[in-house]
Amino acid sequence: MDSAARCRKTVIELVEAEEPDAGEDGPEDVLMVVHARPAKGRRQRCGICQRRCARYDNGEGRRRWRALDLGTLQAVIEADAPRVSCPEHGVTVAAVPWARHGAGHTLPFDDTVAWLATHCSKTAITHLMRIGWRTVGAICSRVWAEVEERVDRLAGLRRIGIDEISYKRHHKYLTIVVDHASGRLVWAAPGRDKATLRKFFDLLGEERSRKITHVSADAAGWIATVVAEHCPNACASWILPQAPPGGTPIHTVQWATDALDAVRRQVWNDERGGNGRATAGSKSLKKARWALWKNPEDLTTGQQAQLAFIAKAHPVLHRAYLLKEGLRMALKQGQETAQALWDWVLWARRSRLEPFVKLQRSIVKHWDAITAAADHGLSNGLVESMNTKIRLITRMAFGFKDANALIALAMLSLGGHRPQLPGRQAT
Ligand SMILES: [Zn+2]
Repeated sequence: MDSAARCRKTVIELVEAEEPDAGEDGPEDVLMVVHARPAKGRRQRCGICQRRCARYDNGEGRRRWRALDLGTLQAVIEADAPRVSCPEHGVTVAAVPWARHGAGHTLPFDDTVAWLATHCSKTAITHLMRIGWRTVGAICSRVWAEVEERVDRLAGLRRIGIDEISYKRHHKYLTIVVDHASGRLVWAAPGRDKATLRKFFDLLGEERSRKITHVSADAAGWIATVVAEHCPNACASWILPQAPPGGTPIHTVQWATDALDAVRRQVWNDERGGNGRATAGSKSLKKARWALWKNPEDLTTGQQAQLAFIAKAHPVLHRAYLLKEGLRMALKQGQETAQALWDWVLWARRSRLEPFVKLQRSIVKHWDAITAAADHGLSNGLVESMNTKIRLITRMAFGFKDANALIALAMLSLGGHRPQLPGRQAT
């Protein structure tokens, strides 16, 4: 339910303008005071679970909640704040429809601040809303807590990235988990050790941990240990080496081009009858080099014709060409790279083309690095850009009371559930 709908469950009794106190610290302008009470069905409910309960006492009497300004005038809602006796939560302040439990601000006020926190600078928010920065942190915490209760942010996780981020001038750390599919931040917690990361997998649960197919991380061994404990089905190429020994996918394609050229030279020599004399056939093969090397999408019409000629006249060379192209395509299969590459290895193994049989052996030897490298562009790009964004947020969150407020702001900004301004259509 959005905050506007919840506020409709409020009865307004009276609106009055309170003259400023003579004292120095009082507001400089009149204060708009809205006297209110919960609508009929909304009274005497537990502030935590909303269950209807027996009234306990009057609590601390009348209370005020800071509301959104009325133009330039500050405004508050004033109401009784009785306590109720909940069978589950004990004696607690009764729920009010216009504010979150325990909050000193109304729902629209909270939601506006949360929206601003994901869009504006610290100074803009504190000046506009006339609140301290710590209060912004507290508001982010309770707005995020409510989102967390409503959505299952860990649903459907398959490919995750794990990293650590320093904050507070590098004295403290957060462990973060991102979802490669959605590009969202799904989890963060203070600390960087096995115990911290185990909390994530505890929350994810055993069944869902088994469904994790890929984990990317380039940090320390503690991540590897915990992932090995919890994700028996994660892809073997899950740890991204800092510098993959197999090189980037481009290197692997270069190996394939070399293998193709070895086959071409062999065919060319055979064409010359082994006596080094150029023939019409060998000349046409020499000219066809570029057609073989280039990516098919870049071929000129003439080169396409040469390729068609090779397919007809030199089936062995054409098979080598298809193997080279097959490898190039396999390395571009994103999530399916490992499977596609394995299919390619089996194909090359049966090809009876010595340079490609050798090549598949090298690929098997550097398997982890090559598959990780094929993932590299995607994984590291996402995790790195997430790190940059979180670093900006940690800098902004400096001055919040604790790491939970910082995490709440990060989750609100990057978790895929950005706060909406109250009363506006979702964008
Ligand atoms: Zn309750």
